[in-house]
Amino acid sequence: MKNVILLAPPAAGKGTLAKTLCEKYGYVSISTGDLLRERALEDKELRDFMKTGKLVSDELVFDVLKAKLNKLGNTPYILDGFPRTINQAVMYDEMISDIGKDLGVVIYLDIDKETLKQRVTTRLTCPNCKSTFSTVNEGFIPKKEGICDKCNSELVQREDDTEEAFEKRYEEFLEKTAPLIDYYAKAGNLNRVPDTDFEVIFSKVSAVVNDND
Ligand code: AMP
Repeated sequence: MKNVILLAPPAAGKGTLAKTLCEKYGYVSISTGDLLRERALEDKELRDFMKTGKLVSDELVFDVLKAKLNKLGNTPYILDGFPRTINQAVMYDEMISDIGKDLGVVIYLDIDKETLKQRVTTRLTCPNCKSTFSTVNEGFIPKKEGICDKCNSELVQREDDTEEAFEKRYEEFLEKTAPLIDYYAKAGNLNRVPDTDFEVIFSKVSAVVNDND
């Protein structure tokens, strides 16, 4: 299996896609957002900063990422939420060349802003297993209201899943992350997936990660 970088605006379904790829193909998913939220449990300043939807420093991101990659060995992995800027992409290219890992493929989930905003404001997340659900979108409504289908934990609304924080995160995406689309297209790694239906997305992504060319 090829390593995967998931490139997408906020709430495009990166987390759900990563989770399914892990279950089907044995990937390990690395979400820098989750790693940072873990770190933020013991760091109130970071927790307050992350509520604003702004990007944290590259130093901190590489710190949590390196610690995670060091533990991985040769297991193929999915990067969810990283890199977020050209600078992080360049630093990441250098880092993997130093530690002998392959970049693999870049999947770009290309979904329009209004669809994303509606998803964010109706999204519920499991604080335990990180599964996400929706209060309105068919196929994602929890079987029991407010309870995770997978591990029975009580679902919560993430602190940055408000309309205001979404606008900020989307702006950050356009300004800082969207240039990566060109960066990886030029490097020949980019695979654009413009769909919203999860089954269609998953089948296209499966073909890309299993392609041995
Ligand atoms: P996410 O769960 O990926 O939406 O990330 C939640 C928050 O974590 C973001 O709004 C940022 O504050 C921070 N974050 C996650 N990944 C990165 C990254 N690669 N670079 C900088 N900040 C990040």
